[in-house]
Amino acid sequence: EHTYPQKAHIKTLKLPKNIESLCREIGSLAERMGYKAYLVGGVVRDMLMNKEVWDLDVVVEGNAIELAGELARIHGVDLHPFPEFGTAHLKIDSIKLEFATTRRETYPHPGAYPLVEFASLREDLLRRDFTINAMAVSLMSEDFGTLIDYFGGLRDLKDKLIRVLHPLSFVEDPVRILRALRFAGRLGFRLSKSTEKLLIKAVELGLLKEAPQGRIFSEIRLALREENLPEIIKLYKKYRVLESLFEGFSWDDQLERRLKGLRSVIEWHRIEFPQERLDYGWLYLMLLLLRVDAAGYMNFLNAPSWVRQGYTFLKKDLDRLLGDLKKAQKPSEVYRLLKGKHLSVLLLLMSFPEVQDRVKLYLEKLRHVKVDPREFSGLSGPDLGKAMEEKKSQLMDSLFSLNS
Ligand code: ATP
Repeated sequence: EHTYPQKAHIKTLKLPKNIESLCREIGSLAERMGYKAYLVGGVVRDMLMNKEVWDLDVVVEGNAIELAGELARIHGVDLHPFPEFGTAHLKIDSIKLEFATTRRETYPHPGAYPLVEFASLREDLLRRDFTINAMAVSLMSEDFGTLIDYFGGLRDLKDKLIRVLHPLSFVEDPVRILRALRFAGRLGFRLSKSTEKLLIKAVELGLLKEAPQGRIFSEIRLALREENLPEIIKLYKKYRVLESLFEGFSWDDQLERRLKGLRSVIEWHRIEFPQERLDYGWLYLMLLLLRVDAAGYMNFLNAPSWVRQGYTFLKKDLDRLLGDLKKAQKPSEVYRLLKGKHLSVLLLLMSFPEVQDRVKLYLEKLRHVKVDPREFSGLSGPDLGKAMEEKKSQLMDSLFSLNS
């Protein structure tokens, strides 16, 4: 058993304006039904960090689906119940709510989907991943806004630490290895000394490989969406998780240089072409996996088709294309080599220093060069196309030049 106090360390929070009245309403509804309701998890963490919150996780000591159903009825919105999990989702204005009955989870074997039973709030918090994600706020009118923190989450938040709740946490659920690094990267936190030791051990034991790949790879997808992805990748490197996840993966200086290159290319592209937004996270993944045989992983990752196509193309043709780009003598040759390539391929190419200027010229200038078909009276079909392309080439070669 754990040595945590039965009574939580407490303090009272002022809830953000956009959620306060809704939270009070949930509290009094719960009271009327003889239940208790609390905000839990990420929303409590984010509130304490003064971040905006729009997704509320509510746990109920009582029937969560019934409570959520009543709230949905009052607001005239749809309820999405999941009776097998005792949870329900709904949306009120722009606030997303997830209701769950407090529960205990036990893991039949490491990384497996857990067995679930009804339990107290404390047990519900105890099954969670890190202290900063294991706090609750009461929504009941008698102590509305009271922070319930059994495991020192508030202190760890102040000290910027990610800490598991018990030593077997990573063994129970190896996905937490990746979650720990995602939160550390996102928030700029470190792992506590003991959590770091446990995490290193868990990776060494190969637990990431044993965990259900579906869960592991959905966690990777979440990481790819993080603003601070480059920091997360640094942590993946420090703790050797990619070696463990992707057969044949290894780090070297060249890969690190390219990742840095990609980071600045993405910063540049964000600013120069804001209307061309792309899910940039996938570019990092493509780059990381270029020297791995990752077609199978792309399935697990449920990668969008532009990622698969771009990746397959680069696996096959990257070296040739780099060589040809380096050899190109004129802007029009660069244009011909890059024309029609997906933006993801172009940005990845641009992160290779030796061809950066050339790809940049293409993105900034060459691809926008237009000629007016009315200048070619008398021509049609393929002849017209050819004449226009020739004119374009002349124009490019006279307007721009390649620094060698
Ligand atoms: P985000 O800001 O990324 O949404 P979150 O903390 O809300 O972060 P979720 O993945 O939505 O994260 O999970 C909600 C809560 O459920 C977490 O705060 C944590 O308490 C708990 N949780 C999620 N995944 C796990 C896990 N693998 N093991 C234990 N607890 C988990």
